[in-house]
Amino acid sequence: MTGHILPVPDEMSAPYWDACSRHELKLAHCSQCAKVTHPPDVTCPNCHSIEPDFVWKQVSGHGRVRSWTVIRQSFLSGFELPFLLVDVELDDHPDVRLIGRLIDGADTPLTLGDAVTLTFDDLAPGVAVPAFVMAGKS
Ligand SMILES: [Zn+2]
Repeated sequence: MTGHILPVPDEMSAPYWDACSRHELKLAHCSQCAKVTHPPDVTCPNCHSIEPDFVWKQVSGHGRVRSWTVIRQSFLSGFELPFLLVDVELDDHPDVRLIGRLIDGADTPLTLGDAVTLTFDDLAPGVAVPAFVMAGKS
C-alpha cells in the first residue's frame, strides 16, 4: 500500500499510535477526574487540570454506528475508492467519537445503531489506524 498520509505522533498522541501499531485501542484517562479524553490535550477538558497526567487504558472496541458516509473522492487517503467511513459510539465510552473505515465495503447496508467491532488498517509497517467491521462477521 502506498500513497497513505501517515499519522504523525506527537508527545501527546504517541501512546495512542503506539497502541494502534499493536492493534490495541487505548484512550487517555485523566488522572485527576478519570474522564476519557480523545484526542488528549495538554489540559483536561473536563476538570481543566493542567496536569492531567493521562493514564492510557485499553478499551473493548465494541460500538454502534452513529452515522456514516461514503467517500468517493479522497485527496488524503490511499484507500481504494469508494470506501465507507463510520462514526462509532463506543459501548465503553459513549462520549468518545471514533471514526474509521468500515472494512466490509462501501456497499454494506447500514442502519443506525448497527453493532461494529474495532479492527485496524495497517498503513505501513508499524503504523495502523482504527477501522471497523460489522459485528458477528469477519
Ligand atoms: Zn480531568
